Amino acid sequence: MHNPEIMWTTLEDSLCELGESPFWHPEESSLYWLDIPGRLRGRRNRYLTMGSALIGRLRHSLNDRKVPVWLQSPLVELIVENGRVRGAVVERAGRRMLIEARKGVVMGAGGFEHNREMRERYLPSPTSADWSASSTGNTGDAIRAGMAIGGAVSLMDRAWWIPVICAPGVDRPWALFAERSSPGQVIVDQRFPVFARFATPIDIVGAWRAEAFGDPVVIGGQLVRPDDLVLADRDGVILIDSSAAEDVVAAAEAKMATEGEMVRAIRAGVDPQEAYMKYRVF
Ligand SMILES: Cc1cc2nc3c(=O)[nH]c(=O)nc-3n(C[C@H](O)[C@H](O)[C@H](O)COP(=O)(O)OP(=O)(O)OC[C@H]3O[C@@H](n4cnc5c(N)ncnc54)[C@H](O)[C@@H]3O)c2cc1C
Repeated sequence: MHNPEIMWTTLEDSLCELGESPFWHPEESSLYWLDIPGRLRGRRNRYLTMGSALIGRLRHSLNDRKVPVWLQSPLVELIVENGRVRGAVVERAGRRMLIEARKGVVMGAGGFEHNREMRERYLPSPTSADWSASSTGNTGDAIRAGMAIGGAVSLMDRAWWIPVICAPGVDRPWALFAERSSPGQVIVDQRFPVFARFATPIDIVGAWRAEAFGDPVVIGGQLVRPDDLVLADRDGVILIDSSAAEDVVAAAEAKMATEGEMVRAIRAGVDPQEAYMKYRVF
């Protein structure tokens, strides 16, 4: 099972990759330190976890079957003959090579998040190829190769969005997962007002832009002002003008108190009709 290149992982091992020190887990700690070849190579733990473990397993199978894997050999275009994809042209060590395919070509070359021109064409503006935490090689090559031979595309204006921080001096943006996913969390930057609180459906994050802050809006034909009191539940939504809010809350509390009294009276044995005649609430 232990390939010299790749070692396998268990769920518990993922704790190490998730940031917990192997020193706190005696079993993981000994696996780590007893991996002498790994320690001679460097500090990186060779016990793969999560996505790395998935790819590690696939690589292991390829090694077993002696399938050559060419790195730094990008797909350039697809070759079509008689209406069928016959192969792919790849660039390797400065040379273009045609790889013939007997059955088909599977393309798994990511999206176009690092392609400025495609982002500007398909995604909301403003946009930048630097605003992505994904693999920097994802420049849409396979999508364009497919389109070049007449392939249809759809959902090009859709993306899996997440806020990222582009910190000065850091070459790759940092994606905010835990930082923004718990309800009630807000990201405070003193240079900007807060435009949204609580969790937002992830698929719309990149599709909206804040145009104004603290302005009234019309929703479903109803004017909503920034300081209106809004109460929404499965029965509907009510808007209360802020100037009337205190009176409305006091009246609602008084009604609830009378209802409570009536319920207590009925529970104590008063006839419901008699209770209604007395309290006049339901
Ligand atoms: C920060 C981050 C965290 C994530 N966390 C999770 C998570 O926890 N769980 C989860 O399920 N998903 C997660 N995802 C999503 C997941 O990583 C992607 O959905 C997944 O990797 C997509 O796989 P893919 O093979 O389609 O593309 P990718 O993994 O992006 O791989 C595409 C590869 O193709 C290469 N390529 C590009 N052009 C060419 C070319 N011309 N020739 C050859 N190769 C080329 C690229 O360099 C890249 O290596 C995360 C994504 C990001 C960005």
